[in-house]
Amino acid sequence: MIESLPRISLYDLGFAAIESELRAAEVSTHHAKALWRALHYHGELEPTSQFSPPLQRWLESAVGEGKRFFLDVPEVVTESHSSDLLTRKYLLRLGDGHCVETVLMGYDGRYTACVSSQVGCAMGCVFCATGQMGFVRHLRAGEIIAQVQHVRRVLRNSQPQRRLRNLVLMGMGEPLHNYAAVMQALDAIANVRGINIGPSKISISTVGVVPGILRMASEGSPYRLAVSLHGSTEAERAALVPASKQWGLGELIAACRTYGMLTGRRIFIEWTLVAGCNDSLETAARLADLLSGMDVHINLIPLNPTSGFGGVPSTAGHAFQRVLRAAGFPCTFRQRRGIDVTAGCGQLQAAKRLAAVE
Ligand code: SAH
Ligand code: SF4
Repeated sequence: MIESLPRISLYDLGFAAIESELRAAEVSTHHAKALWRALHYHGELEPTSQFSPPLQRWLESAVGEGKRFFLDVPEVVTESHSSDLLTRKYLLRLGDGHCVETVLMGYDGRYTACVSSQVGCAMGCVFCATGQMGFVRHLRAGEIIAQVQHVRRVLRNSQPQRRLRNLVLMGMGEPLHNYAAVMQALDAIANVRGINIGPSKISISTVGVVPGILRMASEGSPYRLAVSLHGSTEAERAALVPASKQWGLGELIAACRTYGMLTGRRIFIEWTLVAGCNDSLETAARLADLLSGMDVHINLIPLNPTSGFGGVPSTAGHAFQRVLRAAGFPCTFRQRRGIDVTAGCGQLQAAKRLAAVE
């Protein structure tokens, strides 16, 4: 019978679900805490001798190859380091053979993981390598958690004294298009008895999925919100971000204002500068008008090269920044990280679907 049921990743189970699985197997739910700690804090189930005999027996009977439960441990297909060794990029193979990219960035002693939320992306932003590959599928919560566990293992092995402190959902995919799985994963990642990254150290970057932004606002979601704006008029934005036909600029700014009002939180506005498209002083002034009265921090991102886009990086970034600063907005440049390993913004692409695991 068990063979006919779909297999379940232990990382897809919240604490209450772990309790109910143990209860169903007639194992005391008292053991749920030990199992949670092993999964989320230690990131592994070995050695099984660390567990009480009833839990050990359950793990042996229920978890592993051919059994009901499994542990998401993606396989490292390739690993690349930037020349300054501060950025490490991993191409990770998921259980069905699809690959995603996960990046570990360390600077000023602070380590940040950049994880993917989907294989590919449906939003099609013209300058983005992930957008250029199209949408393949959503990731499960367990597959998002497993990426974070992977970079924690890397850090533990290379710099055991360092802790992963920050997380950004800026890898492959649009996190608010995969809302439920992303939020479930983040709740586990932020849990103090597990990975324990504070919610204020977790950023969700969205292309502007308005229903997702409003849902974060109404649910009082504790994570930081970053909105990739890139255009100050409907036409300017639509040329770079096709999704803006679905959620127009006016509607997006209104959603951001609602989010600000309901949560009292600052929003991070991301702006990839493309020469001749969105880098003029008039655009900067229009952007300042659009955002007037909002608590925002503007992050300017230098365009990273991708094979499917002929746009050119802007040289007018500092003048653009001055206009926004003069209007009273905090405005900084995103540090360029990992360009030489194509781990920069928008360069993540796992085109290979490796045949082995079909
Ligand atoms: N889907 C989400 C998060 C992933 S993309 C989003 O779009 O926000 C993370 C950031 O990288 C976004 O701000 C995106 O606009 C930016 N980006 C994508 N391609 C880029 C490129 N080629 N150069 C610079 N920034 C890019
Ligand atoms: Fe998707 Fe973000 Fe890339 Fe746009 S920039 S295609 S939303 S991953």
